[in-house]
Amino acid sequence: MSVDRLKELRSQVDVVNLKILDLLNQRARLVSDIGHVQAELGTSFYDPQREAEMLTALEQNNNGPFSNETIKALFREIFRASLALEEKEARAKILVQRKSPTDKTIIRLPDGTEIGNEHFTVIAGSCAVVSFEQMDMVGAALAERGVRVMRGMAFKPRTSPYDFQGLGEPGLKIARQVANKYNMYVTSEIMDKSQISMMSDYVDIFWVGARNMQNSPLLKALGQVRQPVILKRGLSATLEEFLYAAEYIVSSGNANVILIERGIRTFERWTRNTLDISAVAILKLESHLPVVVDISHSAGRRDIALPLARVAKASGADGLMVEVHPNPPVAMSDAKQQLSISEFNALMDEIEKVHVTP
Ligand code: PEP
Ligand code: MN
Repeated sequence: MSVDRLKELRSQVDVVNLKILDLLNQRARLVSDIGHVQAELGTSFYDPQREAEMLTALEQNNNGPFSNETIKALFREIFRASLALEEKEARAKILVQRKSPTDKTIIRLPDGTEIGNEHFTVIAGSCAVVSFEQMDMVGAALAERGVRVMRGMAFKPRTSPYDFQGLGEPGLKIARQVANKYNMYVTSEIMDKSQISMMSDYVDIFWVGARNMQNSPLLKALGQVRQPVILKRGLSATLEEFLYAAEYIVSSGNANVILIERGIRTFERWTRNTLDISAVAILKLESHLPVVVDISHSAGRRDIALPLARVAKASGADGLMVEVHPNPPVAMSDAKQQLSISEFNALMDEIEKVHVTP
C-alpha cells in the first residue's frame, strides 16, 4: 500500500518537475527578449533594483512550506542563470566573436603573406628606432630568418616624460627604408588619431599599444584605414574589455585586427608583467581574430625568452612578438628584455622544433 503511495507521489513530483522545467524555459525566453530590448536601449542587463522588487514580491506571496530565505536563494540562482544567458547572447552578436569552430580571420598582406593561417608568424624588431645603422643590422638578421613584419617604433609611450620618447617621423623614414631594403613590412605604434595620415605613408600595419587599448576615438578612426591593426591588451584589461576594444575597430569598418597578449599587472615582481597564457586559449575559443604572444613586454627580461617562446607556440597562438637589438645593453628603451641577434637566432632555432597539431 505505502509502496504504491510512494510511486504515486513520485510520479506527481515528476509531473511538477516537467512543469517547472517548462516554466523555467518560458522565463528564459522572456529574459532573452528583455535582453534584446535592453541592448537596443543601451541599458545594463544587471538591474539590482528590479531583482530586489522581484524578491520582495516572492516573499509576500510565499505561503510555504519553503521559508522566505530558501525561496530567495532558489530565485537568486535563477536570476544568475538568466543574467548569464543575456550576457552570452549579447556576446554572440558581436562581430569579433567566433561563430563556428572553423571561423577565422586571416590577415593577408599585399604579397600574399598571411597571418592567422596555420603558419606561426614571428613579428620582431627593436623596441624603438634609434638609428639607420641599428635598424639595418636588425633588419638584415630578421630577413635572414624569414621574418616579414618588422617593428619600426617611432612613438614610444614611456612612463616618465623625461625618458626617450622616440624619433617621430624621422624614425618612421628609417624603418621604411630598412623594410624596403629587406622586403619586409613595417608595423608602428600610433598614439593619437591625428597621426594616421602622416603615418600611413610609412606603415603597413598600425599598432595600438597597451596604454591606448581603450582609446575609443583612436580605435574608431583605425576602423577607417586600409592597413591591418595590431591591438595590444591593456595593462589591466579583462578579456571581455579586450574583445570589445577590437570590436570598436571591426565595427568601424576594418576587419583586419590582430590581438596581442602582452602580460597583465599582478603582484609578481620577478617579471615585468604576468604572461596570461590562458588568455590565448580563451581568445582563440571566443574570437576568430589571430592572436600573437608578446614574450618581451610580458617577461621584461631576456633570460626566459626561450621557454616563453616555446609556450607561445604550443599554446596555439598564431605567432609571437619579440624585441631584438644589435647591442641590447645600450638600447634607449627596454634594454633588459631585448634579445641580441645571436639570441634571436637561437630562439628561432628553438621554436622551429615545437610542432603543434591544429
Ligand atoms: C611595445 O610593444 O612597443 C610596447 C610599448 O608594449 P606595451 O604597449 O604592451 O606596453
Ligand atoms: Mn619595448
